Amino acid sequence: MGKGSGQREVKPGDSLRAGIEGAPIEPGDRMSPGIQFEEPLIFERSRTGRRGFVLGQGDWDVDDVDPAAELGGGLFRDEPAELPEVSEPEVVRHFTRLSQWNYSIDAGFYPLGSCTMKYNPKINEATARMAGFAQLHPYMPDQWCQGALELLWRLERILCEVAGLPACSLQPAAGAQGELAGLMCIRAYHQSRGDTQRTRIIVPDSAHGTNPASAAFNGFSVVEVASNADGTLDPAAVEAVMDETVAGLMITNPNTLGIFEKEIEAICEVVHRGGGKVYMDGANMNAILGKARPGDFGIDVMHFNVHKTFSTPHGGGGPGGGPICVSDDLEPFLPVPRIERSEGEDGPVYRRDFDGHPQSVGKVKAFWGNFLVYVRAYTYLREYGSDLPGISERAVLNANYMRARLSDTYNVAYPGRCMHEVVFDDSSFRDFGVSTMDVAKRLIDFGFHPPTIYFPLNVDGALMVEPTETESLRAIDEFVEAMETIHAEAEHSPQLLEAAPQNAFRNRLDETTAARRPILTYRQLREER
Ligand SMILES: *Cc1c(COP(=O)(O)O)cnc(C)c1O
Repeated sequence: MGKGSGQREVKPGDSLRAGIEGAPIEPGDRMSPGIQFEEPLIFERSRTGRRGFVLGQGDWDVDDVDPAAELGGGLFRDEPAELPEVSEPEVVRHFTRLSQWNYSIDAGFYPLGSCTMKYNPKINEATARMAGFAQLHPYMPDQWCQGALELLWRLERILCEVAGLPACSLQPAAGAQGELAGLMCIRAYHQSRGDTQRTRIIVPDSAHGTNPASAAFNGFSVVEVASNADGTLDPAAVEAVMDETVAGLMITNPNTLGIFEKEIEAICEVVHRGGGKVYMDGANMNAILGKARPGDFGIDVMHFNVHKTFSTPHGGGGPGGGPICVSDDLEPFLPVPRIERSEGEDGPVYRRDFDGHPQSVGKVKAFWGNFLVYVRAYTYLREYGSDLPGISERAVLNANYMRARLSDTYNVAYPGRCMHEVVFDDSSFRDFGVSTMDVAKRLIDFGFHPPTIYFPLNVDGALMVEPTETESLRAIDEFVEAMETIHAEAEHSPQLLEAAPQNAFRNRLDETTAARRPILTYRQLREER
């Protein structure tokens, strides 16, 4: 399918208009009733003496309380804090309006490559809010939270099955912390064998930034290896740097270019032969769920990003889950507590085991991991049931459909089939004097969240698109048409892109000044005015 395939033409602002049928919106108009185009700071709304609703104040002996005496120790302020004085409706409206300025997966297509912004089914929220889960106290004794422990145990079993690895810890709070915990296990493994000279970790140049960061944070030095012309890693390149000072290799598969590392078995073989362990960044498991198991192709330890692959809202940096699965060799070092199941008189009994693992690297997170994220993940997994491979099939199909349609206009960085995401470069529009940033900003005018840009670092002007399995053909077609229109604009009226976004609450920011002279306090802002 090429341009003009019988679909309506997409124009800037189109998908912003969804839901306001027949109301033509011009740039600068209100997005929807009640949402102002400008929203002042809450401090600017402040008026002396404004208050919210409080329970009948007169009935309380508040005057009998002397806060200064109660606090003691000179902790009481001399001057009241400079808090805004606003009425309750003003506060509610202020934050509600701001929330509607935010772009979200519930509002539209969010093709942010590498981040897996799939739709998060609302049933996940229903289960995570069940009182038996939401109101548990982490110090509750095991016998009072058997259901929660059973859920964690079952989730561990599913993750182990998907990973093809025998043991799991749900403790890490996100992918990056999983990397940290996994590398701690690798280090502890080598040390337990008296193999203390292994101080280096091999990381390909296409790796996510967290990989070298986690290695460095663990006290390893990082050996970078370049990927080849196909965007994958050569076993020979690993062989060239592999020696008895290497503790292991970190690899993402499919990698951050959205390409499956075909030589993964040979790469693992090289590392294992040299006495190292292979860590897999499993952020891209969305592409291979139920299709290929990392343990089967040689991986020793991996993390899942359950907030990506198994759906938890994560755009705001909220709680996540980065469980790790490990091989038999590494199991003794997993963080504690482990979840154990035994057969009791009335069926299975679950407990947290702190003491049975003397070689454990210890705890890496307060309590037992982000429990409610795991309730959501478990729910998502149960929704799909045995159709887990269907998740990957749709994610990969959507990305390839996008790649095929857009390759008429945009240059695919690494031609050939991709997995769950596709990376374009800037070579098809660079000559028009247009940058990847301009294309991304213009997409905002069409009502789409821009894709990931300038990542991976080894692609010039990268645009990385990940539609995920939850998007419909129609949503993808609309995005493709917006991208095609933008490409035509880049050629014929590049000034439109340079000035973009124009339909947004904020137009193009002066990013240089923002970085060089950031104004981070309200008082300073007021003085500057
Ligand atoms: C998202 C991501 C990470 C980091 O995961 P967090 O859960 O954000 O800490 C690491 N590697 C890859 C490839 C990712 O996409």
